[in-house]
Amino acid sequence: MVKCISCGKELKGEICEGRVGMLYDGLICETRGNYGSTVFDLEDGLLQFYLCDKCAVAKGDQIEYQRFERQRPKLIEKWSFTEQRKKEDEFYANQKKNADKAK
Ligand SMILES: [Zn+2]
Repeated sequence: MVKCISCGKELKGEICEGRVGMLYDGLICETRGNYGSTVFDLEDGLLQFYLCDKCAVAKGDQIEYQRFERQRPKLIEKWSFTEQRKKEDEFYANQKKNADKAK
């Protein structure tokens, strides 16, 4: 069971290859983050979240449509955003620890 990121409505979907592959009355939204974000920028992964159709229509003037060719790589990892941030925090804490040891 997944929820709309805007209103919290529960949405039903179909799981395909370990992830929500089809959603009823809602959109599957993805982002790879970007360099300027202070919370997410990852080249080999993405964040997936959900927006119900009602909220998509209500917020349509804030949503950009972009058309491009795409080729989705096979899913190899999936985490919650919270888990991913925790892993990054641990990674940087270990880097700092190792740098301090080297001094
Ligand atoms: Zn909604």
